[in-house]
Amino acid sequence: MDVQAATNAYIDAMGPERLARAIAYTTGNHWILLAALVVSIITAYLVARSNVLTHRWVKHDGKPNRTAATSAAAFLVLSALITLPWTLYTDWFRQHTYQRSSQPLGDFLGQWALSTAVSALIGAIMLMVIYLALRRAGARWWLWATGIVAVGMTLLMLAAPVVIEPLFNKYQPLPDGAVRDALLPMSTDAGVPSDRIFVYDGSRQSNNFTANAGGVGSTARIAISDVAFKGATLDEVRAVTGHEIGHYVLKHSQWGILLVSLLSLVSFFSAGRLYPTVARLLSVSAPMTDPAGLPALITTISLVSFVATPFLNTMSRHFESQADRYSLEHVGEADGLATALVKTADYRNPRPGLIEETIFYDHPSVERRIRNAMQWKSINTVTTAPALSAPAPSHAESN
Ligand SMILES: [Zn+2]
Repeated sequence: MDVQAATNAYIDAMGPERLARAIAYTTGNHWILLAALVVSIITAYLVARSNVLTHRWVKHDGKPNRTAATSAAAFLVLSALITLPWTLYTDWFRQHTYQRSSQPLGDFLGQWALSTAVSALIGAIMLMVIYLALRRAGARWWLWATGIVAVGMTLLMLAAPVVIEPLFNKYQPLPDGAVRDALLPMSTDAGVPSDRIFVYDGSRQSNNFTANAGGVGSTARIAISDVAFKGATLDEVRAVTGHEIGHYVLKHSQWGILLVSLLSLVSFFSAGRLYPTVARLLSVSAPMTDPAGLPALITTISLVSFVATPFLNTMSRHFESQADRYSLEHVGEADGLATALVKTADYRNPRPGLIEETIFYDHPSVERRIRNAMQWKSINTVTTAPALSAPAPSHAESN
């Protein structure tokens, strides 16, 4: 079979109009990522100039832990308020323009307020401990801060499916029916407890065709958005769930924690060196150990994280390729995977340039992924032509 022709056929089936919209949406996302960095720097500058972090409600003399926690919460809430118009444009208005969401404005704002409160609470705790390390550990504070992030991320990943995600969406066990019957043997084979596969009302926020694997250890779970659950054929659901089971079996959540911890190590180490310069540019006079300098510390870390984005994306693309491979080898639905991938191309231009893909894409391009699936199919398809061919391996495509 002609692998490239089969790949082209899948993507071209989107039609020129849908393809053009996917390109415009994706390119806009790249610009938004760049602009978001500028917005966050301006916001940090405004918070620093507002003197909120030296206000008596925030700064408690002789109580450094309390000061760090209230400063972090004040910074995060104030930043969220300042950037609200920008958030409304990127996450609500623009998503509606591209028909990626049908969430009413009231519901969006309610969830925005809830997520701001949750972030402020978690941020206050994390930064309180990081400032404790800054005061106590001296020159080696960045090692301690990295350890704190690693522990915090692990706890967060453990708690997210149980405590945080149910605040925003309703997760339900797979309902009885054909999909459940098809997925149960797959999950049993892979050692994923069957009660760890959920369907959630992802359509509340987004029309994106999506599923994910999250949590760690006893809270690890696979969640399929109702958009994918309702809009997919049985072959597609099997292929997509095979991909998510791949993430689960290959322990990508744990690898993710390790990678983010490494990034934190570099971020905190660089922050120590870059802080004086960034603080001067933002007119922040507080030293790094003082939570009043939070706008400068956060900006420094944002800058390092921004530079690290292509490296994190490259690791992420590697994990995604592994999960696709797992799905193909264990489920064998190359065509189901291909048609499911085309449904994700509405929000990820399927044919980016190589540089664009390397810098901005956290999943390999849809074209690359379909080509890999077709490649796999071309090798593993047993043609029916020779009458005396060996029996097909159980995972091979027969058509
Ligand atoms: Zn994935």
